[in-house]
Amino acid sequence: MLHKPTLLHGNVYERKGMEAKVGAVLVVGGGIAGIQASLDLAESGHYVYLIESSPAIGGRMAQLDKTFPTNDCAMCIVSPKLVEAGRHTNIKVLAYSEVAGVEGEPGNFKVTIRKKPRYVDLAKCTGCGECIRACVFKKGVPSEFEGGLARRKPIYILFPQAIPLKAVVDRESCLFLSKGKCAKSCMEACLAGAIDFNQQEEMITETVGSLILCPGFDEFDARRLAAYGYGRLANVITSIDALVKSRHTGENRCPVFL
Ligand SMILES: Cc1cc2nc3c(=O)[nH]c(=O)nc-3n(C[C@H](O)[C@H](O)[C@H](O)COP(=O)(O)OP(=O)(O)OC[C@H]3O[C@@H](n4cnc5c(N)ncnc54)[C@H](O)[C@@H]3O)c2cc1C
Ligand code: SF4
Ligand code: SF4
Repeated sequence: MLHKPTLLHGNVYERKGMEAKVGAVLVVGGGIAGIQASLDLAESGHYVYLIESSPAIGGRMAQLDKTFPTNDCAMCIVSPKLVEAGRHTNIKVLAYSEVAGVEGEPGNFKVTIRKKPRYVDLAKCTGCGECIRACVFKKGVPSEFEGGLARRKPIYILFPQAIPLKAVVDRESCLFLSKGKCAKSCMEACLAGAIDFNQQEEMITETVGSLILCPGFDEFDARRLAAYGYGRLANVITSIDALVKSRHTGENRCPVFL
């Protein structure tokens, strides 16, 4: 006969005669695969920690234009899921975070999560973008989201539909964080007082019963095939470049002739 599980603490349940099992699940990777897995689990009553290493969930699909086989706009498919995952009471989105360590066994894992400093207080940031407009580094750096085809400021929001819709400071290109020299006009422009250059990396531990890994894929660096001239010849582009260039929602729209 199966005994009713008893709640021990947090998400930890024990069924008589069995080891303590945890109902919560940790999903690594906030692309479409991780988002859909999280939504399905959350809807069936599991608590989900959705860990994404970049500043926002969405993954590759958020970068695309029309998608096979329905020819629907990729952002139209993915953005309602981003919002649903961001608002679901059973999902905790931990963006700009990585798994630093895992201990335990199936049914009961202790996961250490590294939360990278965003230099922006998530609770205070409204996503207004005033800091981005005020940033003194006008030239900016190549935008990862735009496949390097457009530029972004050191303080930026990954893309307009980002979840969480919060700014992040890139410490490599920020003049204050990398060189210690900047008037910090971003801080002056932020009426919410959300920018905090004293933010530090934070380690947190969560207990989960299962892990789902959805890290997706990295784009191949086409420069390594020198014979094709990518990066040297303006008319040689990758499939990601083509989709970024033709995307209706991007900053980099231009016709692509094949
Ligand atoms: C040019 C192009 C066109 C395409 N066209 C179509 C199409 O028309 N139709 C179609 O069905 N599919 C298409 N695809 C494929 C589709 O985009 C992918 O299959 C899909 O986006 C993969 O989703 P994913 O969640 O598995 O991975 P990804 O979208 O790659 O997401 C993985 C996420 O995990 C994060 N991550 C990685 N490692 C870690 C880590 N250690 N810790 C935390 N987070 C991590 C990443 O930052 C990323 O956000 C296309 C792909 C490309 C490149
Ligand atoms: S950091 Fe401040 S100015 Fe920048 S988007 Fe957030 S609230 Fe707006
Ligand atoms: S400190 Fe300077 S360079 Fe850094 S985000 Fe603010 S305005 Fe831009």
